[in-house]
Amino acid sequence: MSKKATSQHVTHLLNACESCNPAVTRYPTPLAQNPPQMTPEEKIALIADRFRDIMIALGLDLDDESLAKTPKRVAKMYVDELFSGLDSTKFPEIELLEEQCTSEVGHHSLIITKCSFTSLCEHHFVPMYGTAFVGYLPNSKVIGLSKIHRLVQFFSKRPQLQERLTAQIADSLALLLGHENVAVSLSAQHSCVMMRGCRDENGRTSTSYFSGEFKKDAALREEFFRGIERQIYTS
Ligand SMILES: [Zn+2]
Repeated sequence: MSKKATSQHVTHLLNACESCNPAVTRYPTPLAQNPPQMTPEEKIALIADRFRDIMIALGLDLDDESLAKTPKRVAKMYVDELFSGLDSTKFPEIELLEEQCTSEVGHHSLIITKCSFTSLCEHHFVPMYGTAFVGYLPNSKVIGLSKIHRLVQFFSKRPQLQERLTAQIADSLALLLGHENVAVSLSAQHSCVMMRGCRDENGRTSTSYFSGEFKKDAALREEFFRGIERQIYTS
């Protein structure tokens, strides 16, 4: 996602949507304005039909026992699992907890959570996978650690760009916390780079998103990256 595209996206959403919905974020996935109204079962049936056509076009024998159920299997996997994050009603329930330590210690305590993720690149519909480091300053409220994992999982289950996934995780967390002091860094491998094109099997891409204090304060960003290094070398 280019810088220009990012700012257009943000401007578009801020103009069009004041909801500050953490399932949508200020970096929305490009969804159709008037999508067809279909039940999950209807989506699965339609996708299975189209996937069957793809397999026929490739010259595969749909009567073969091993392939016969593949169209339905793929369709179900898309709707129920790989792209479940397109359904905003599946956004995880997240409660904020009062944080004791900030006031006792008298200064911020940076929290960093490491999460694995698997997503699909929206340009090729093949997997990208890696590690997300999600950091924030509690400012008197904290989020349960497992909820950060659920947040990462929710946005991963969409056709994605790594840059947008990074921004959506960060922005959703900021909206939930009610402040902008968040930092997210993703390191990922892309199957579309590994399996095709330049076929670099060891290539990795890193993306970062900083807002609030993390944007202003270079020392805080360094603390974030030192925290990531500690997590990498102790795991
Ligand atoms: Zn790709």
